[in-house]
Amino acid sequence: MSAFLLALWISGASAESPVPTASPLAEWVATRPAPAPVPGEAEGYAFTGDFFARLAERAAAKPSVVRVESIGKSAKGAPIWAFHVQRPGVEPRRKVLVFAGIHALEWISTEVAVDLLEDLIDAPPPDVAVTVIPVLNPDGRDRVEQDLLRGENTYRRGNGANVDLNRDFAVNTEVRAVWSALIPGYYAHSATPLSQPESRALDGLLARERYDRSASLHAFGGYIYFPWAGRFERPEHWREHVALGRRMEAAQGAGAYRTRQLSRWGFFFRAQGAEVDHVYGEHGTLSYLIELTRSGFDLRRPKHSFDTYFRWYNPANVDRHRKKGVAAVRALVFAP
Ligand SMILES: [Zn+2]
Repeated sequence: MSAFLLALWISGASAESPVPTASPLAEWVATRPAPAPVPGEAEGYAFTGDFFARLAERAAAKPSVVRVESIGKSAKGAPIWAFHVQRPGVEPRRKVLVFAGIHALEWISTEVAVDLLEDLIDAPPPDVAVTVIPVLNPDGRDRVEQDLLRGENTYRRGNGANVDLNRDFAVNTEVRAVWSALIPGYYAHSATPLSQPESRALDGLLARERYDRSASLHAFGGYIYFPWAGRFERPEHWREHVALGRRMEAAQGAGAYRTRQLSRWGFFFRAQGAEVDHVYGEHGTLSYLIELTRSGFDLRRPKHSFDTYFRWYNPANVDRHRKKGVAAVRALVFAP
């Protein structure tokens, strides 16, 4: 070997430029479908094999800014990916958690989470640490992807065990609404709190990281909800929740979503065991459940859009709705 080649070999083997090894995320991504073109109603929306591949690349390029972690496994054993973003060398003043994709069909929530995450990786906030979970319910998400690839239209909400994770948490599980006996099924929640691995993974992360603020992204409705969902009384931090909600509204501008306590949506409405109550009641984190968009129904094609479940939650003009959602969640991250 010549001295030149030897020098090249040594520099190639040095810690400066390590031989790239596939991350666990990149390895998992390789097993995911990334259809091009995206089928049917999902046009404009990314499949997991597509956006997680992008995120794996970005994370690999900025290891000092973003750390990827699987916070647990789904009911069917899929990893639940979390991305921790922070400016290197700065002690964060605040910690914010954003999670999406609890409900299988609500893809707009993941679109918003991924867009936000890419922005934050490009320009991490000066003194806020942010964790983003694009898909908390990977089994539900996978089923919808398979449905779309087969051209099927199926209503899906739950996880791999068909449990609604949005009703699987431990705070405000007792049904207290006096009229609940009249419409009992309406107040249903899972048999035992934290019965599912996805719920336990989120609970464990909250206990470990102790976030100051959190948003769970859903669709649809155009509301910025805060606790309580399961009881009519105002939460102790009602004022703080309203104030931050107004900051999110202001960031959205014209046609902003409306801030409201979730149980005050309608006199009859309660959600027992919802994640928005658990995050606040169990972990003391200011907590929001954001219902993105005002639905994907297209009044020019009413029959088509009412018959197509994907369309209920996910509007066709995804860019506009993505921007509106990101504006709100960025305000949650950046507002003092
Ligand atoms: Zn939902």
